[in-house]
Amino acid sequence: MEINPLQWVRWSPVLTLNEWLNEATLVADPVVWKKVQPLLSQKPAQQLEASDLDEATLWALAERTAPTSCVIGLGGGTAMDTAKYLAWRWQVPLILVPSALTVDAPFTDSVALRREGRIHYAGHVVPEFVLIDSDLIRSAPPHLNRGGVGDLLSIHTALYDWQLAHQRLGEPYNAEVAQQSAKILNHLSQQASEIKSVSERGVQLMVELFCEEVRLCHQVRSSRPEEGSEHHVLYTLEYQTGRTYLHGSAVTLCALLVAHLQENNPEQLRHLADACGVDYRGMLHEIGVPALRRAILSAPEYARQDQLPPTFLTLTDAITEERVDRAIRWIEEGGL
Ligand SMILES: [Zn+2]
Repeated sequence: MEINPLQWVRWSPVLTLNEWLNEATLVADPVVWKKVQPLLSQKPAQQLEASDLDEATLWALAERTAPTSCVIGLGGGTAMDTAKYLAWRWQVPLILVPSALTVDAPFTDSVALRREGRIHYAGHVVPEFVLIDSDLIRSAPPHLNRGGVGDLLSIHTALYDWQLAHQRLGEPYNAEVAQQSAKILNHLSQQASEIKSVSERGVQLMVELFCEEVRLCHQVRSSRPEEGSEHHVLYTLEYQTGRTYLHGSAVTLCALLVAHLQENNPEQLRHLADACGVDYRGMLHEIGVPALRRAILSAPEYARQDQLPPTFLTLTDAITEERVDRAIRWIEEGGL
């Protein structure tokens, strides 16, 4: 049976939550809750704040909190994954309400969590529905939504890795799915101005493309169509710094650097990231060159230790200090 998360998407205003709220555990980002609360007449049965995705923290949260008949996640990626975790542990219905499209988490069925600082995906949870209130999403700071395309731009570098693993190791490869994934990038480039302006159409497009990306991953039962070395570099970075970065913008930056190292049309990808208005250079500034440099250089080792799927990080010897420095300089100097 085909799984397309678009079937769970409900395009409606956030006040739809009223009929669920008073029996629900609400996991909300406090800034977003402040904005949404005046629009609602009901109160949640209990409310939790999403803090971090450390597995021990999540475990304790699920243990010490009395389960309710449903869980609602309202906010960004951390609120989504915390709500997904609780609904999975308690085996109760889940409603997800992204307040900005920063990551594909509202549409995927596993929970991102950290074990000793390393990202893992666990569990299996399918929502009752994902509520998309485009007014709410459009009222978020624009860079949050623009950055979200990172989980789509990653297709560019992930497909390279998948093909390489196929050529070198004979890993199963589905050319039709790869082609359909590449089409997502075409759609994005045709309507990049809608993403940049965070228009109604831009929000709709991002939801549709995230769902399409997740549908394709289901079809091949792996995240090969959208996740590869660019995510692995980010996982290494977050492990080494002990910090979490705004996912989409950070993935965009890593995808650009990786495309440069792969010699895989980096200019084309940068053109698209610029057209969508992703502030990847601001992200470079936030992370800092030394931390980023260290992360890229140690990403092959991290990937091996975590037994992540093989990518050009582990299948080639492309990661040298000189090439990494050249890739970072290319980001610092070029483009907008
Ligand atoms: Zn991602």
